[in-house]
Amino acid sequence: MTTPQVQPPKLRFATVWLAGCSGCHMSFLDLDEWLFELAAAVEIVYSPVASDIKVFPEGVDLCLVEGAVANADNLALALQLRARSKLVVSFGDCAVSANVPGLRNLWAGVAGGSRQSVLERGYVELADRGAQHPHAPGIVPELLERVLPLHEVIAVDYFLPGCPPSAERIREFLEDLLRGERPQQQGAEQLRFG
Ligand code: SF4
Repeated sequence: MTTPQVQPPKLRFATVWLAGCSGCHMSFLDLDEWLFELAAAVEIVYSPVASDIKVFPEGVDLCLVEGAVANADNLALALQLRARSKLVVSFGDCAVSANVPGLRNLWAGVAGGSRQSVLERGYVELADRGAQHPHAPGIVPELLERVLPLHEVIAVDYFLPGCPPSAERIREFLEDLLRGERPQQQGAEQLRFG
């Protein structure tokens, strides 16, 4: 009688979407058929594009984080995922540098600050009708005064730049990690922003 082989547990994999446009996740989906190889190697335990789980779980091995930290919900989730993940990757230029959502930081020094300025512009100045600030509780998460790159809020293990990082760049990065190696990330093809 042969002894059944015990498979090692799959790597518990998560992706998170903070203040970003979802473009980094769309690039992740551009991995196309390689996603089947990835699915065979990992257990997807949290992701806006591959899971319906609402609460970030405990015991995550690897978490890709798209987007900057712009509001109280982003901040709470960033702290939670850090506490529950072994490796955290700052995924895309918004996470790495605040990038597009960080443009509102240009108003941080003006009267009222960036938070008040962006709300005024979006909900009052540009409104065609019914101009008013959002007031119902829970409709709009409270904005932080400045939009922050992820590493200013939590410790980050790797940076994967790009707006978005190409599918090829994401694949090479993940293949290195899945082999248990440190990602090479050399040359403009791996490191260029934008
Ligand atoms: S880095 Fe670019 S593609 Fe990714 S969320 Fe930000 S704006 Fe979108």
